[in-house]
Amino acid sequence: MFEKLLIANRGEIALRIQRACRELGIKTVVVHSQADTEAKYVKLADESVCIGPPPSRDSYLNVPAIISAAEVSDAEAIHPGYGFLSENADFAERVEKSGFVFIGPRPESIRLMGDKVSAKEAMTKAGVPVVPGSEGALPDDPKEVLRIARAVGYPVIVKAAGGGGGRGMRVVHTEAALLNAVTMTRAEAQAAFNNPSVYLEKFLENPRHVEIQVLADEYRNVVYLGERDCSMQRRHQKIIEEGPAPGIARRLLERIGARCAEACRKIGYRGAGTFEFLFENGEFYFIEMNTRVQVEHPVTELITGIDIVQEQIRIAAGEKLRFRQRDIVIKGHAIECRINAEDPYRFTPSPGRITHWHPPGGPGIRVDSHAYTNYFVPPNYDSMIAKVLAYGDTREQAIRRMRIALSEMAVEGIQTNLALHRELLADARFVTGGTSIHYLEQKLTLRGA
Ligand code: ADP
Repeated sequence: MFEKLLIANRGEIALRIQRACRELGIKTVVVHSQADTEAKYVKLADESVCIGPPPSRDSYLNVPAIISAAEVSDAEAIHPGYGFLSENADFAERVEKSGFVFIGPRPESIRLMGDKVSAKEAMTKAGVPVVPGSEGALPDDPKEVLRIARAVGYPVIVKAAGGGGGRGMRVVHTEAALLNAVTMTRAEAQAAFNNPSVYLEKFLENPRHVEIQVLADEYRNVVYLGERDCSMQRRHQKIIEEGPAPGIARRLLERIGARCAEACRKIGYRGAGTFEFLFENGEFYFIEMNTRVQVEHPVTELITGIDIVQEQIRIAAGEKLRFRQRDIVIKGHAIECRINAEDPYRFTPSPGRITHWHPPGGPGIRVDSHAYTNYFVPPNYDSMIAKVLAYGDTREQAIRRMRIALSEMAVEGIQTNLALHRELLADARFVTGGTSIHYLEQKLTLRGA
């Protein structure tokens, strides 16, 4: 096992990784920007290194600064967390070339999955169902593009191969609008992702977002750890996640889970990963793979009892998985609410000083957060300040516990979306379960009107 590990991230995930290291007896080095110098989790680490001013591009995305922090602190491995450099294949390569272990997949896997066209091709070959659409990238010939869309059937969605974070996508309802949409998405993709390649797929009207968590070691041992339903989204940002996915037959989920594990074996995948699917009318359609730990990983930790971050570190250290598929037992139900520093109605960020912080507790409650009374939420980064999780033997119990937790929790000095979460946990359709990815936006539109 490593003696010392560098955490190339901030906020709750930096603290989460630190906790995993502590349990494994690994010393931690946390890098931070000038905006995060005073944060408690930075002081809790064995060592900390300031790598630059507040803007991410000068600090958390500053590759030379991070590599030299690892050099001066004698760290052996680097954990990228999520966001920032976590899915940057060039960074993973630089880390390994500099003699450190990258806690994540091989750079080739990150590259393969980072291009949505090559990811879709690889999944098709591996027998994972994908959304019907163009075979590979769209050609230049407009006649061909029109023919492909006609064959797929409208509505279609034009997507950038290099896209991410919900950007670089356009829904097209009629043939008359297609060519213009392709030209615009191409131009945007070139500007934003430096890659003009676009593809086209069937636009699913009312799907749910269901994802499969996998763990794979260096020796092609792979397990899937059940699924998470992340359909409660606003602008493609997940707000509530839960597992298991309500109302989907176990045998369907097991079949898709086994396919994902098989695909990992085929592409030689290593580490933690998530296969994201749209689920509609009893069918799964692959949309993308995340080659890193996800924000919502604790949902799976609660229902499987497996510490995903510790497993990531063990895998990177060359250990074999300590369990097989038959050892994985899904027990109970878990729900996660992402608490953001934002206006609960207009969704504008609300950074600033937290004057009072009262997190919830009690049976079945887990709070992952780096915040505390007097913590200053910097304006430079993502607005998520806490993840509140509730676990229960049943979904009903998890919901009851989450309602209690949200009623206990108090945050003053900044605005948060706690009120929205309280409203959603009381929402009849949420309580029934199985709402589509459009549900929250439709509800917000109705409420606004
Ligand atoms: P990103 O990498 O930007 O998150 P994804 O490919 O994961 O892009 O898609 C993000 C979201 O866009 C999905 O969660 C879904 O809401 C919507 N979406 C993507 N593809 C389709 C599709 N074929 N039909 C309907 N919605 C889609």
